[in-house]
Amino acid sequence: MHPIALRCIRCGTEYPPNDAFGGCERCESLGKPTNLQVIYPEDELIAAARRIGRATRQPTDMWHYRDLLPVDPDNVTTLGEGGTPLLAVPRLGAAIGVPRLYVKDESRNPTGSFKDRLGAAAVSAARQLGRQAVVGSSSGNAGAALAALAARAGMPCVMFTTQDFPLAMKTQMGVYGTYLLAAPTIRDRWNLMEAGVRRYGWFPVTVYRYPFFGSNAYGIEGYKTIGYEIVDQLDGPPDAIVFPVGAGDAFSGTYKALTEYARAGVIDRVPTMHAAEVFGPLEQALATGSDVVQEADTHGVTTVAISVGSTMSTYQALDVLQRTGGAARSASNAEMLAAQRDLAALEGIWVETSSALAVAALPKLVRAGALDPEGVVVAVLTSTGLKDPETTAANLPPIPSVGADFETAAQTLQEIYRFDPANQNPTHTDPTNRNPGTLRSTT
Ligand SMILES: [Zn+2]
Repeated sequence: MHPIALRCIRCGTEYPPNDAFGGCERCESLGKPTNLQVIYPEDELIAAARRIGRATRQPTDMWHYRDLLPVDPDNVTTLGEGGTPLLAVPRLGAAIGVPRLYVKDESRNPTGSFKDRLGAAAVSAARQLGRQAVVGSSSGNAGAALAALAARAGMPCVMFTTQDFPLAMKTQMGVYGTYLLAAPTIRDRWNLMEAGVRRYGWFPVTVYRYPFFGSNAYGIEGYKTIGYEIVDQLDGPPDAIVFPVGAGDAFSGTYKALTEYARAGVIDRVPTMHAAEVFGPLEQALATGSDVVQEADTHGVTTVAISVGSTMSTYQALDVLQRTGGAARSASNAEMLAAQRDLAALEGIWVETSSALAVAALPKLVRAGALDPEGVVVAVLTSTGLKDPETTAANLPPIPSVGADFETAAQTLQEIYRFDPANQNPTHTDPTNRNPGTLRSTT
């Protein structure tokens, strides 16, 4: 579908669809940086949503929704991203008091995170708009996704990063042949990226301005597919969706998809959308009623949730919370690590600590009265645990050594793990005991 404009989320000012990636100039001049949104002919959009919506419960990948995306088939660049499983997690749900809990497992994407949807949509759009190179600033998932998709398209990719981030992510970004450059600080990354955009017309995919307003509007269109998929896989809208939120790109994209489905009559209501964040800028903005998200204080705390560990957020995220009546809550490092262990030990899903934040925030949203614990709730798990294994490993006890005799092994199973080798009936064992991290925290 061909876009007709990019429109400001805040003031509605429209810009040409092919050259306005620095956010809304009008709002920026008023000190309120705001992202733009891709706009299509409404009749075409509604017709496509009616045709596609809920036609299948098993979308194969995100391009199942290509008629709702701004790219012609000839320009699609894909590694098979999207179409990730929506899994019921009854044991985890029972443990945290949200029995009808589902998780959208975005760790199954080609580079292990939801950012592949952003990368695929942005690289495809760059081709469609005739751009020769893409540029990003990242120390993690966005960089890996953009690097991989650019490689897939045979398109040069410049990536501004820093030296200080996990080895797995650094390796992933480097191996795809992207032009990696480490800047002194995070802020420097953005300035360098902006210079490349201005001077050479590189297609900017990630956040690159401060205060930031969000990523490329075409890339965010890729995130819409999370919203379509959740509805189609459930055969209807859930009551609530919870995201880990930094800049709120996927949060905003998912909301846009839900509003499109609602306008087309595919769903009769838009779910409440809640944000799980680290330092609380959105919670603070909601509490004060401000329409500008202010930088939050870290209180001297460093976070294990590196992918969403920003003290800032954006108007696009705040707008979703206000429009859906959602709330924002934070979680501590200990709570995130506990949620990460529970997801792994109770359901077999190991995600990045930043993703576990979506689960860690659930009990807090319930206690705040923002989330109905009896409702159908979807937590979006954005990225795999393999992205940052050091953080998880640091929280696990050493593996107990045993001798070559089975008696010692059996005794150790009982003593350390409380597993009775003679009685393997799962109803007689506490599944969390299978995870030494949880066991240690309870003894
Ligand atoms: Zn504006």
